Amino acid sequence: MSTDTHHPSTATGRIVPFPAAMQRAVVSSVRPLARCLLSYLPVLMVAVGTGLRALAGPLWALALVAAVLAIGALVLTLRRRRRPGGRIDWDSAAPYEQAIRAQISPRILTVLDETAAWIGRLGYRIHVYRMECTCGHDGSACSCRQRWFAGTAPMPGRRVVLLVGDRLLEAEADVLRFVMVHERTHVSTVWFAAARARILVVSLAAVAAGILSSGMTVLLAAAGLLLVWMVWAWVIELACDLNAARCHGAAAPQLWAMYTEAGALSRAGLRWWQRTIRLSTLPDHPPVWLRARLCRATHQRRLETP
Ligand SMILES: [Zn+2]
Ligand SMILES: [Zn+2]
Repeated sequence: MSTDTHHPSTATGRIVPFPAAMQRAVVSSVRPLARCLLSYLPVLMVAVGTGLRALAGPLWALALVAAVLAIGALVLTLRRRRRPGGRIDWDSAAPYEQAIRAQISPRILTVLDETAAWIGRLGYRIHVYRMECTCGHDGSACSCRQRWFAGTAPMPGRRVVLLVGDRLLEAEADVLRFVMVHERTHVSTVWFAAARARILVVSLAAVAAGILSSGMTVLLAAAGLLLVWMVWAWVIELACDLNAARCHGAAAPQLWAMYTEAGALSRAGLRWWQRTIRLSTLPDHPPVWLRARLCRATHQRRLETP
């Protein structure tokens, strides 16, 4: 990491060590309310638009949104130029990664290295973070869903953090291989752009719909945009699944069984209202039964074509 352009010791003291920053990101992303707000972002944005219109009238509301966007883009560009790696001390990633590598089996390490090499070829620097228990009830009472899952987090300075649950790291190598093909497909150019465009396009359309329409039209717009939001996410998720099924489809049923078990475990640890909110993440991920069925069909077709 000697090529890094920032020097944490001379920075303004808000640089966070890599493990702490990732832990914070995981904790905030698994909060039921945070997940729910993100799942229903279009509805939230339509409400923001409606509020602005009520406060300032449609013309001023549009001008305000345009100004916020312009200032936001400027601040982001300036910040990136000043600190290309963002607020994370990337020098602290290497010792962290060395320490967790020592605890991971060689077969699993091979899979992680294959994934890192693949994502590296896209021009990213890759880091691995192990998602562990965050509920504080480690052991049989732990209900942390993230321990069974994986994710990719794009970071400033063309870095990608591969987040992998500690339970998933104990699964069979081929199960992890399936998940890793899914994850690396997310980072591939087309699907990465599709995920970014989803947030940008749908959010802007939702704010504009809130500002420009009223009465029944606002409700229809919110419902329509939520549908677009959901279909967009499902297309991305299923494309990543099917790519994984084409490569390692035989391992998929084991993964779906794991997900079902993890879902039941984490639901058991939640209160009723948290369970209700958790159910509502459908706009982000298709249900496991649909993913399982499509993967099985793809794998079958693969076996039948010589
Ligand atoms: Zn836990
Ligand atoms: Zn995915």
